[in-house]
Amino acid sequence: MNVFRHKKSLNQWVRQGKARGMRLGFVPTMGALHAGHLELAGRALKENDLVVCSIFVNPIQFNKAEDLEKYPRSLEADLRQLEDIGCDAVFCPDTREMYPEKDARVFDFGHLDKVMEGRYREGHFNGVAIVVDRLFRITEPDKAYFGEKDFQQLQIIRAMVRMEGHPVEIVGCPTVREPDGLALSSRNARLTKAQRQEAPGIYQALKKAREMFPATDTKEIIHAVTKQINASPELELEYFEIVKARDLLPATRAHANEKVMGCIAVHAGDVRLIDNLSLNS
Ligand code: AMP
Repeated sequence: MNVFRHKKSLNQWVRQGKARGMRLGFVPTMGALHAGHLELAGRALKENDLVVCSIFVNPIQFNKAEDLEKYPRSLEADLRQLEDIGCDAVFCPDTREMYPEKDARVFDFGHLDKVMEGRYREGHFNGVAIVVDRLFRITEPDKAYFGEKDFQQLQIIRAMVRMEGHPVEIVGCPTVREPDGLALSSRNARLTKAQRQEAPGIYQALKKAREMFPATDTKEIIHAVTKQINASPELELEYFEIVKARDLLPATRAHANEKVMGCIAVHAGDVRLIDNLSLNS
């Protein structure tokens, strides 16, 4: 497996592969890899001739310095896991390599980045869009793989690709969960035993919302989910919203004939967990 720290050497390697007619799949990550990330990489390996994963903890998508500091890092173990599954190359630049100069661009995503995660994490999606745009320019992928776990992020990436005209197919991959339903996340490692025990309640609440939709009014569903989450002494709801998958605008039962998502963010102590579920598919 090739490990590149510099964009120039990675881009040269990519272009050599492409000159030989190879199709390239790309999986961007922030490291601390788990089975969810490996699922994306595995799918990329099946669908492409070459696969590049990137590992870069992107400082400009964190709106709290403390979050960035606490973000788990395990580069050696990550590289081992990627090598084991047959990944062809890993790009792990440092911050200066990614941002030799400040990138002050501001994307206009309309309301897409104003709701849900965007409302609680100012500037987050702009930072995500900038880094993914830069990574696409370096890796020039045919297909890029993102988790539906970060559903709003997936829609933002699709919008950025349309705006920038990147010739890449964005592939959304289903959320990988623990047997008890908790969505895999690098942050789960920071949960206390008590928090970890209660955290599957997030998925249970989403499933309850799915059972209720569309027979029950969405306001009532939101009320029921809020009550269920806050009944746990370890969990505190930040938001639960029912939105149309297409544009993330609020959905009502009148939208039951198109894809509707329940999106949730919950605090377990100082760990913030997000999840989502399609309520009608
Ligand atoms: P991250 O390193 O957390 O930024 O995530 C890198 C990619 O992995 C993103 O596209 C995430 O949506 C995806 N991902 C994270 N957790 C999961 C999961 N549990 N199942 C599927 N994909 C995931």
